[in-house]
Amino acid sequence: MSKPIIIIGAGMVGISTAIWLQRSGHRVILMDRGNPGMGASYGNAGLIAQWAVVPVNTPSLWKDAPKYLLNPNSPLFLKWTHLPKMLPWIAKFMSNANEVDAQRMVDNLIPILTDAVDQHKSLVRGTPLEHWISNSKFSYAYNTLKDFKKDAYSWDQKARAGFIPTVLTGAQVSEAEPILGPSTQCLAVLEGQGHITNPAQYITELTYHFVSKGGQFIEAEVQDFTKTNGKITSIQTTQGPFECTHAVITAGIWSKDLMRKLGLKIPLETERGYHVIYENPSQMPRNPMMMTAGKFGVNPMDMGLRCAGTVELGDHHAGPSKQPIKLLKRYAAQAFPTLKYSSTKEWLGFRPSTPDSVPLIGEIGTSGIYTGFGHQHVGLTAGPKTGRLLAQMIDGTPPNIDMQPYAPERYLR
Ligand SMILES: Cc1cc2nc3c(=O)[nH]c(=O)nc-3n(C[C@H](O)[C@H](O)[C@H](O)COP(=O)(O)OP(=O)(O)OC[C@H]3O[C@@H](n4cnc5c(N)ncnc54)[C@H](O)[C@@H]3O)c2cc1C
Repeated sequence: MSKPIIIIGAGMVGISTAIWLQRSGHRVILMDRGNPGMGASYGNAGLIAQWAVVPVNTPSLWKDAPKYLLNPNSPLFLKWTHLPKMLPWIAKFMSNANEVDAQRMVDNLIPILTDAVDQHKSLVRGTPLEHWISNSKFSYAYNTLKDFKKDAYSWDQKARAGFIPTVLTGAQVSEAEPILGPSTQCLAVLEGQGHITNPAQYITELTYHFVSKGGQFIEAEVQDFTKTNGKITSIQTTQGPFECTHAVITAGIWSKDLMRKLGLKIPLETERGYHVIYENPSQMPRNPMMMTAGKFGVNPMDMGLRCAGTVELGDHHAGPSKQPIKLLKRYAAQAFPTLKYSSTKEWLGFRPSTPDSVPLIGEIGTSGIYTGFGHQHVGLTAGPKTGRLLAQMIDGTPPNIDMQPYAPERYLR
């Protein structure tokens, strides 16, 4: 039997990579130390956020970050105990928050995001999983029209990528989304978008599909890599060694630890995020929205109404903090004043973020080891395209976009 390609990490990026490689005829093993879809991909907002081309580190962050960090009502938090460790990353992240670099980051996010609904549809086409991609509108919800106008930088960038909203105000808002209370007076609505109603189940079923087509899923923790003459020949795992022709690191925030095993120090940190699920809700939004006041996405999901967002700079070993959850609940109560529900469930997840908000997609030198991580707030969205690009690169088929901006080399040292 031919040696396989091993994909390390079965989140949205890993399963997409496994499926695209399988489709181009490779023998593929997908490995995860747990069940598929239990990392950041588990509890995200489920938005196919093809419009999310503007990173967090835009020029206004210099003005906003200090204000946010000192304001207990703001959706940006910092685990102060982690600050000394995180300082070098924060310095790099902030150094990109200028006009020129922000434009470069937007330009680099556009090719991997803006056709994401089609990319998800291509991933599931011809499988029994097509129902997972829900067609929807998507709205940014603002307290006032003035708040929408203040967001002009972001909307100008989105317009460059082809996303131009219809703006609703006053009574039009509650007609469009009856769940919204009077605190929301403006909706910027994008037509032709999409969302997922249960990201973890979506990934689980994609994995079943991959296995049903002859792929192998193995539950094992990858511990190290063996190279011969600079090329990957096997990986070491808790289930013993596995020979391979190529390995792809799609382990989200934990990719940082695996890169260390290769002697490489990548500036990857986590923007911790939270969700609250309102179970058995009395109302649901008709379509997903971004609540701009609290910076969280809302999505009518299978298991209830999910509100997911906030950014807490910190590390991925510490448990959840209370403040971000409280904040999410407070803003949700304000936005949906008549919502009733039976109970809530909370979750903390780790967005894997690079200082330039652009993922690392490509081969490490000529080692046969590829990276597919660092998708910050948009990994569910960009997973299928990333998987397709990686499969093309491994096949030696040049992708139809310039891969240089995503090359892992920019961070290798
Ligand atoms: C609150 C919140 C809301 C979000 N909302 C959205 C959204 O609406 N839309 C969007 O596009 N994105 C969203 N995101 C971001 C998105 O969830 C992430 O970018 C994405 O899930 C990252 O996927 P991944 O496959 O890279 O990593 P993960 O999903 O984290 O998967 C990594 C996998 O690697 C495995 N692993 C790690 N180490 C090893 C090892 N040594 N051996 C074997 N396996 C290993 C882990 O078990 C895990 O399953 C959100 C994130 C958060 C936190």
